[in-house]
Amino acid sequence: MKGLSDKVAAIAPSATIEISNAAKRMAAEGVDVISLSIGEPDFDTPEHIKDACIEALSRGETHYAPSAGIPALTAAIAEKLTRENGVPVKPDEVIVTCGAKDAIYEAMEAVLNPGDEVLILDPSWVSYEPCARLAGATARHHPLSPETFQVDDTLLDAVGPRTKLIVVNSPSNPSGAVLNTDSLRLIADICRDHDLYALSDEIYEKLVYGKEHVSLASLPDMAERTITINGFSKAYAMTGWRIGYAAAPRPIVRQMEKVQQHTISHPTTFAMFGAVAALEGLQDCVESMRREFERRRDYLVPALRDLGYTTAPADGAFYAYVNVDGDDMAIARSWLRDAHVAVTPGTAFGTPGWLRLSYATSMKNLKEAVERIARV
Ligand code: PMP
Repeated sequence: MKGLSDKVAAIAPSATIEISNAAKRMAAEGVDVISLSIGEPDFDTPEHIKDACIEALSRGETHYAPSAGIPALTAAIAEKLTRENGVPVKPDEVIVTCGAKDAIYEAMEAVLNPGDEVLILDPSWVSYEPCARLAGATARHHPLSPETFQVDDTLLDAVGPRTKLIVVNSPSNPSGAVLNTDSLRLIADICRDHDLYALSDEIYEKLVYGKEHVSLASLPDMAERTITINGFSKAYAMTGWRIGYAAAPRPIVRQMEKVQQHTISHPTTFAMFGAVAALEGLQDCVESMRREFERRRDYLVPALRDLGYTTAPADGAFYAYVNVDGDDMAIARSWLRDAHVAVTPGTAFGTPGWLRLSYATSMKNLKEAVERIARV
């Protein structure tokens, strides 16, 4: 038989899979595994959002919709970005996608050509490079400072003649770091000086603890070259709904819309009505989930430091990033085998020697996990 796609074959499966598969196997065998490898809020979607979706379903919102999303949602997103984020966006500069991940994929397809290079700041979320590669481009990785997880002048050395797009993710998965305005300004200067596009993944924007989230596109001259990515998964506990979005200059959105039209058409119609309710309803649900994550962070991070570990700043998202000063894959395997605690090795994010511990689980689980880790 003829060989399969070289492009897809070249994409490595995620380094997270080995540990998470082993954890699932152990759990299926009846072992009491505590998973700190979770990438989604452990809360249920707020009732008023579910109700709006159910109502939409009942009144027959079960048909095709405009490919960029229902007008009520693109308008609500444009309004939110303009008002909250200081990014002046019109509804036709927004595209609603099947989760933020789909928005990232479509953005890469829309912007990149074979031979183009995407600059990724490590530690980085696992799907940026595969999306760049699916679009025919290559990735160049640049390490953030392992102490501050901020950007410094060395970023300039990473920009080459083929660099076209820089990926920025703040608050960060996996490090939990929030980029400060100096870092964002430096990135913006480099984008302007070298005519780069920026993809700013702001999916964790609502989960910040004592820090302010600033949108890259709100910096001078950045709206014209930035694709802002966001969604409903993390802020509203809507991971399974698969609703995300991108906001970008019209030519980029138009390109993304073509990708969407010929692949998924658009996200599920009645789910988009739930997303409208999320944006237009009271935001106390977002704040109460944020506060609970903060409470857990305030327990977990000092507890890990008491065990002698150095951690990344943990100012946002729901991850503690822990320096284990050794073979992270081996340590993750041993924590699973000996403590029955599943975590994600930093190798998956381009930074060996670190482990990502998610606190999107109950305080009881976190306390038990820390006790078990202390005994290993
Ligand atoms: N970006 C980052 C940094 C993420 O952590 C995730 C989810 N793990 C996504 C994007 C994708 O989110 P969604 O569920 O909206 O596709």
